[in-house]
Amino acid sequence: MMERKRELFGLGLDALEEFFLSLGLARYRSKQVYNWLYKKFVFDFAAMSDIAKGDREVLADKCSILPGEIEIAKTQRSADGLTEKVLLRYSDGALVESVLMEHDYGHSVCLSSQVGCPMGCRFCASGQQGLERDLTAAEILAQGAIFGKHLAEQGKRWSRLVVMGSGEPFLNYANVLAALDFFHRPDAWGLSYRHMTVSTCGIVPGIERLAREGKPINLAISLHSVRQEVRSALMPANKVYPFPSVLKAAAAYGADSGRQVTYEYILIAGLNHTEEDAELLASYLKGQNAAVNLIPANPVPDKGIERPAMKDCRAFCRRLQRAGLNATLRKEMGKDIAAACGQLRGAAAKAGVHEGGYSGAGDQ
Ligand code: SAH
Repeated sequence: MMERKRELFGLGLDALEEFFLSLGLARYRSKQVYNWLYKKFVFDFAAMSDIAKGDREVLADKCSILPGEIEIAKTQRSADGLTEKVLLRYSDGALVESVLMEHDYGHSVCLSSQVGCPMGCRFCASGQQGLERDLTAAEILAQGAIFGKHLAEQGKRWSRLVVMGSGEPFLNYANVLAALDFFHRPDAWGLSYRHMTVSTCGIVPGIERLAREGKPINLAISLHSVRQEVRSALMPANKVYPFPSVLKAAAAYGADSGRQVTYEYILIAGLNHTEEDAELLASYLKGQNAAVNLIPANPVPDKGIERPAMKDCRAFCRRLQRAGLNATLRKEMGKDIAAACGQLRGAAAKAGVHEGGYSGAGDQ
């Protein structure tokens, strides 16, 4: 039987060192490889030029580097050049999207936590085929690394992470946290937890567990309505964790962590943006250290999801502001490439990318 190669990506320096010693490699090789992986974003042993050829051969024989094996099945860039989205294909064929966004404060990466999603939100393209599998911590990290490499080539780096791609992060809690902890490692990327955000549809035990971590990770809640019947129709998770319990857990998280909680609220034509909706939302959130991020829905016509007129979106935003909430209407990024919500993967599945019908011709 063929011996499985050991995956190095996401191993801490200490674990890497121990493993290298067991292979008979010199201790300092681990630091060299670590630097290639996380400082230079080089994912190919052959290119690690300060490592003796013999050692490189041992490494290639015994070890693998995940980001080097992930295929970029498709790349799309928005017309304004500020958003770049990739469709990644892992070696088992799983397809996942990640997005790089350029803001005035720097670059942020939107990571997926699962392949597909089990939550079944009506407006969301990622969940339409259900959950395929969880991503491992290394697979989550690798998304950041792939953009890291791309940015490093331009002398840049990402400065923020949001776990807001496909999947429900709190249903893959341990792997998501392990990935964020690795991003935080001072000997690798040293990213502050304050620059990381986890977005949930409202898995209350997950929110409570994150609170117990005591890390200043930002929490975002996908709220979208504060009416039971409307929210349950949009988000089946509301039947298990009704939004008042979500709001309570999130407020406690904000108080404990000292971080402002963000509530995402997609505006869906005819569904959740009346004057009463605004008043109700304000009554729930008033006095909290919270921000409301309003997002005109990305249309999903076969599910009856359309966006309201822009003037109605602005009116809803103003109502919330007048009621004392810190509300903003999100500047849309990458709408022309459907960056928000799993639409690239959905389109790829229809076009047969999953079956290998797509030849990976996406420009890299
Ligand atoms: N499961 C997590 C993270 C993934 S969803 C969560 O629910 O937060 C990431 C964000 O994209 C969520 O706020 C989700 O509500 C939003 N989203 C999904 N479909 C959308 C659509 N059609 N238009 C606008 N936002 C959408």
